[in-house]
Amino acid sequence: MVELKNVNVHYSSGTDALQDINLRINDGEFVFIVGESGAGKSTLMKLLLREVVPTSGRVFVNGYNLAKLKGNKIAKFRRSIGVIFQDFRLIQELNVYENVAFVLRIADQPMKFIKQRVPYVLNLVDLAHKAKSRPKELSGGEQQRVAIARALANDPGLIIADEPTGNIDPRLKYEIVELLQEINRCGTTVIMVTHEHDLVKYFGGRIINLDSGSITFDENIGGQNEDE
Ligand code: ADP
Repeated sequence: MVELKNVNVHYSSGTDALQDINLRINDGEFVFIVGESGAGKSTLMKLLLREVVPTSGRVFVNGYNLAKLKGNKIAKFRRSIGVIFQDFRLIQELNVYENVAFVLRIADQPMKFIKQRVPYVLNLVDLAHKAKSRPKELSGGEQQRVAIARALANDPGLIIADEPTGNIDPRLKYEIVELLQEINRCGTTVIMVTHEHDLVKYFGGRIINLDSGSITFDENIGGQNEDE
């Protein structure tokens, strides 16, 4: 569960990036966060990862009160969240298998578990046949699917996807969201930041709009895909 209570973020530059945000996202939800550039979307995602601390107010994620997290507990907390970025952030020198195995090694998982888990998550994103490829040998859509497999590796309760379709061929954007929705149907909460209105209209669901640091819309809308 994600909960923000009366959250404000004021940057020292003088910008009020978020103002009096009250928000609750329950386990198992799929939420789109939308808004123009500068609306506060990235700041909100950084708050959830405890990369930014609020100037005032409280943030709870996966049962953690983020204000109380210190030292190595922060790293442990972050491993409970799968993060997907617009620019994939794969390690170019490592192949697909090794990119996914890497996060499991950091989490001190035993080798026996890694050898089972990596093929399992690569299979989920339909990339088992590319295990030995390097990122540069893959399309943008495939690279993002590797990043999704990596985000799933530690079996997170929450996935945060920050503009995951931003660098992907228009035809394949829908597949990426469909994959995230499939993961959501298996029980993982997904928060996806996007400025792509077409995608949001197509899939529908809970849409939260940020405008100049405030939530101006938070409702469920029907998607066009349901009309088909
Ligand atoms: P979005 O992701 O919706 O584009 P951001 O959260 O990045 O919005 O930014 C919200 C506001 O905060 C903008 O006015 C931006 O210029 C400002 N901002 C973002 N990060 C910082 C920072 N590290 N220091 C100062 N101002 C920032």
